[in-house]
Amino acid sequence: MKTFYSPELLYLDGKFVHGKGLLVATDGTIARITTRDDIGDADIIDLPTKALLPGFVNAHSHTFQRLIRGKSESRIISGRDFWSWRDTMYHAALQLTPEEIYDVARMAFLEMLFSGTTTVGEFHYLHTDVNGQPYSDPNLLSKQVIAAAQSVGIRIVLLRTAYLRSGFELPRDPGQTRFFESTQDFLCNTESLISEFSSRSAKVTFGVAPHSIRAVPLADLQAIASWTHLHDLPLHMHVSEQVAENAACLREYGCTPVQLLHRNSILSERFTAVHSIHIQPDEIHQLANAGATICSCPTTERNLGDGIFAADQMMSAGIPIALGSDSQAQIDPLEDARELDYHLRLRDQQRAIVDLIEDVPIASRLFSCATRNGARALSVPSGEFLPGCLADGFTVDLDDLSIAGNSPPDLLPILVFTLNRTAICDVLIHGELVVKGRKHRLQNEIVSRYKNIHRRIWGSQNATLGAKSLSLLRNEWRGRRGSNPRPLP
Ligand SMILES: [Zn+2]
Repeated sequence: MKTFYSPELLYLDGKFVHGKGLLVATDGTIARITTRDDIGDADIIDLPTKALLPGFVNAHSHTFQRLIRGKSESRIISGRDFWSWRDTMYHAALQLTPEEIYDVARMAFLEMLFSGTTTVGEFHYLHTDVNGQPYSDPNLLSKQVIAAAQSVGIRIVLLRTAYLRSGFELPRDPGQTRFFESTQDFLCNTESLISEFSSRSAKVTFGVAPHSIRAVPLADLQAIASWTHLHDLPLHMHVSEQVAENAACLREYGCTPVQLLHRNSILSERFTAVHSIHIQPDEIHQLANAGATICSCPTTERNLGDGIFAADQMMSAGIPIALGSDSQAQIDPLEDARELDYHLRLRDQQRAIVDLIEDVPIASRLFSCATRNGARALSVPSGEFLPGCLADGFTVDLDDLSIAGNSPPDLLPILVFTLNRTAICDVLIHGELVVKGRKHRLQNEIVSRYKNIHRRIWGSQNATLGAKSLSLLRNEWRGRRGSNPRPLP
């Protein structure tokens, strides 16, 4: 039996229209976009006073990092930059049991659902136990994250990540113990995981993610990229997030990461460069000419002090920009979308910098970044309402305090620049409502289990922080960092 979703307003190709809805087939795809008198005996789900929009696509996530939210905002504990912030992240990575990885992922996915996200690209690099030994099933932790997505109901593209070394001429960092595999093991385990899930679930697909130039030497990168191309999968990689990683690449290869990828024919329409903050005009053209996507993660990049992403230059070059929640410092796709322009406003002391690039209005442009560009990066037919696409979307309450007082022509700018998460009512994935009236059937259980893990991981640290004076802690940390500074790549 087909289902007809009938909202007050439907978002179609940059506009909101009255009187139309989605006719959804039993396979979870959109049969057609039509009116109520053209649906035969389909079930009708009325969505009065609501607008229905395509679901957001989060193209870059590390779910376990949800656990360090609020724990990495102290300069004393997490230092002053990205490199020292990683110590806090590694602390969490080294504590979690497989069951806890499942529960933390469920918490992050649940928050994504309530933000209107219907597909997530999980860049997953926790592979082994805390001693660096493979589990009896070397894909155990990948499967825990997939099971978490299935439990919550979100569509997942698991980007299985290769992490082979700590950096050019660096010894292995103990904090990264759970990340490492050999190239051969990585490919073997990835192949086995994909074949196991190939016909099991339409909501689980895969991609491949060499972590970064610093973590994957060129010869291994070439082998992984060839394998990925052969299997026609998306290829994602952290690229030029930090100046220091570009400097290390220059020392090792005599060129920047993008130049290295270009020279070795690794850039393609299947390639997504995550971050791409510190890149030059010739590198922008190399990415554009290859048809690559860039995934920007503005909330995380702002939180980590990575730098300002030149969204205007990338858009002018015709590069599609997708968005990711990355470190989960905040999970809000529209906040990421609006920051693409807000950061440029601070840089240029002007307004609406990306408006009308190629004649595309700014709100429509930013909304596409949060939806269909991410779907493109993950090779998922989602992110827009078209016949044959997956029926993934969310509704907003048109009377919510953050957006009340709107008309169809100005609704999209209102949503993009001011929508509060409280306005999101229902979330539709694969033709089914997984959030109804702001409620998810597992919410209480997921939050309760997550709180227990948070208490276990951070409980002793909280007690320590309470017992010791700030100056004592400061001296301890300075002493540790002074005597054993973490090497940069
Ligand atoms: Zn990342």
